Amino acid sequence: RFSTATVIEELITPPVQVTYTQNLINGHFVDAASGKTFPTYDPRTGEVIAHIAEGDAEDVNRAVAAARKAFDEGPWPKMTPYERSRILLRFADLVEKHSEELAALETWDNGKPHEQAAKSELPMLVRLFHYYAGWADKIHGLTVPADGHYHVQTLHEPIGVAGQIIPWNFPLLMFAWKVGPALACGNTIVLKTAEQTPLTALYVAKLFLEAGLPPGVLNIISGFGPTAGAALASHMDVDKIAFTGSTETGKIVQELAARSNLKSVTLELGGKSPFIIFDDADIDKAVELAHFALFFNQGQCCCAGSRTYVHEHIYDEFVEKAKARAVRRSVGDPFKKGIEQGPQFIRVSLSLDTLKQNSKEFLQIDSEQFQKVLRYIKSGIESNATLECGGDRIGNRGYFVQPTVFSNVQDDMLIAQDEIFGPVQSILKFKDINDVIRRANATRYGLAAGVFTGSVETANTMMRALRAGTVWINCFDVFDAAIPFGGYKMSGIGREKGIYSLNNYLQVKAVVSPLKNPAW
Ligand code: NAD
Repeated sequence: RFSTATVIEELITPPVQVTYTQNLINGHFVDAASGKTFPTYDPRTGEVIAHIAEGDAEDVNRAVAAARKAFDEGPWPKMTPYERSRILLRFADLVEKHSEELAALETWDNGKPHEQAAKSELPMLVRLFHYYAGWADKIHGLTVPADGHYHVQTLHEPIGVAGQIIPWNFPLLMFAWKVGPALACGNTIVLKTAEQTPLTALYVAKLFLEAGLPPGVLNIISGFGPTAGAALASHMDVDKIAFTGSTETGKIVQELAARSNLKSVTLELGGKSPFIIFDDADIDKAVELAHFALFFNQGQCCCAGSRTYVHEHIYDEFVEKAKARAVRRSVGDPFKKGIEQGPQFIRVSLSLDTLKQNSKEFLQIDSEQFQKVLRYIKSGIESNATLECGGDRIGNRGYFVQPTVFSNVQDDMLIAQDEIFGPVQSILKFKDINDVIRRANATRYGLAAGVFTGSVETANTMMRALRAGTVWINCFDVFDAAIPFGGYKMSGIGREKGIYSLNNYLQVKAVVSPLKNPAW
């Protein structure tokens, strides 16, 4: 049924070279202090793309020292906001100019369809930096109507050195969500990329230098979580840590922050988002949107609509059509035109021995995430959900998974509870609005939710009842620079994008002075 078994035989050579592989510290690309490197892989084949400087605690120390100096001695926080804004705009222009190389690099390292990277993510990256350039000179304090004869005002000041840790599923967009607001507010940064996808952040960091960003303001460390990431989260000279990744790691990051210097923490974590389709909806449109909500980016979205709730009146027809749509999904070399789904990403992990011995020989490339997706599919079958289509890998090279649809999924099945992070759609049946509200909210997560209905009343009820940081009504995955994003419950703390994201990178200072100076 899947003609994709051979899709990976003839691969397109990525139209880009890897230029930057070292860490960026204080405006210079440098090797890791230890001299170690680690490989980054092409998920289409599992072959090595390049060897990357492997930063660890010592590199983090050096990067934090550079960021500290650039913050304490300037020039960054001391520049006028307009000057900062101009640099962000120049950077956005350079990203636009180099969009082709960047999109190709992103696809090569991550496996996402090149058309998606080029037509959607790169323009979004530019848009995000235009947006934050706009904020740089519009950060106002307040005057406060306090009791007594005082003049009271608030100054909104940068927090200082921001540590930022990002995941692999949207390497450039996650970079922008973190770096944009931090720089607009006048902070300096040490950012650790995901070990699976280090390439594009190094490339854009070079563009930042070209745009005139002073040395030390943005430092990039490639490396692993338990070494470089943990060193950053627990660093005594880092004033704030922003993390995007799994809920499990988010807990560790918050603990490290608390145990060290109580740095402020924002977290963007996992999800198990419901997408709810009422019986007054246009079924064909609902099928298409639900398909997109789950399968977009190989199913590797924190906010994927991974619990598709469908009203019982339209359930059977919906399942048939959802299955037909999944079977039609084009899977293959993400560099090929028209491909909707590339390979799953590859997890590169440090074994426990590596951590103990700190030796790169123990670095493992494994297909853990890919195997995890296949294990969840197996668990769905074993728990008696109906496998409508898919259910296996494609071919025997690289990390391609068949678009998979399960029907008759029950709330207590593992596939309805855990974040699978793969192309596996679970379709559940519901009876009425109260039933689905209760079930949609019965999760430890609260990142996003989608509702598809023709009724304004239903939409109004649902948008208030759903406990999630984003509710998409008759749409899904609409990401605009101005729309805040973040989680309720165990999906996170704080909001990124939009006006709310500035709060993550600002301190409020109250300044109080008597109206009449007692010294006179
Ligand atoms: P992960 O938590 O394993 O890794 C994310 C980052 O944390 C990586 O840079 C990693 O090196 C680092 N890290 C790992 N262990 C660490 C430690 N002990 N200390 C400090 N840093 C450490 O997550 P992942 O599996 O790579 O990413 C997928 C997860 O990210 C999913 O759960 C997904 O939902 C979530 N995600 C959330 C959002 C959001 O905005 N809410 C966006 C994208 C991804």
